[in-house]
Amino acid sequence: YFVSPEQFKENTVELSGEDARHISKVMRGKNGDKLIVSDGISREALVAITAIESGVVTTVILEQLEMTHEPAVKVTVAQSLPKGDKMETVIQKCTEIGAVSFVPFISERTIVQYDAKKESKRLERWNKIAKEAAEQSHRNTVPVVSAPLSWKQLLPTFQNYDAVYFCYEKEEGFQLRDALRPFMQALPIDHAPGVLLLVGPEGGFSEEECRQAEEAGAVSVGLGRRILRCETAGMVALACILYESGEMG
Ligand code: SAM
Repeated sequence: YFVSPEQFKENTVELSGEDARHISKVMRGKNGDKLIVSDGISREALVAITAIESGVVTTVILEQLEMTHEPAVKVTVAQSLPKGDKMETVIQKCTEIGAVSFVPFISERTIVQYDAKKESKRLERWNKIAKEAAEQSHRNTVPVVSAPLSWKQLLPTFQNYDAVYFCYEKEEGFQLRDALRPFMQALPIDHAPGVLLLVGPEGGFSEEECRQAEEAGAVSVGLGRRILRCETAGMVALACILYESGEMG
């Protein structure tokens, strides 16, 4: 369970709200049951329940744990908004695999409409999915899903990353693998690199978008000879990056 740093006292941690409800009603928690709690920043502990009263679960810390479930390579998945609930699938699966954040965006061929004023509930839901997936896969931090950006807003953010990979099914010569090996080898040992992965919508990216992305510093890469669904491409590319960096497999 993720708690705020303030909930972490010297020897105890108190859980309230939805987490307390989940522990008492869904998990049927009782005194003595053990849980793992994390503040998502620097502290994680094995705790045991000592009381469940008036919607509050009180626990005592049994053991401080090391926060070892986070990948050294920090991958942000930028996904052009797909149709239906596919963004939820991307967030859930990529959180399990190890993405550190998500940036949905709107590109030329994005089919769905996103009205930020009307859809704050959707953003809330995406972040809740990230939290639940982080808990179930024992992540130490919860990836943040930001509000969707336009393509124009996304381009200047490329400079915040050590590498930006533009997944482009029309890229025949240069594959993600070709970009990763030299990138990983050139990294200083004490640096946790930030990587941005760009994935297009159902209709893909346009040639003009490819040109603009490259101009802004992205490297256009292929992911093999088969065309992947837009919700599959990010998962595959992310797994390849973490494999290549020694984090998976
Ligand atoms: N029409 C299918 C759909 O509805 O999902 C496939 C869409 S594919 C064009 C969507 C995005 O996935 C592309 O813009 C690209 O970012 C990524 N993608 C899929 N297959 C790829 C491949 N073989 N190499 C690189 N990127 C790929």
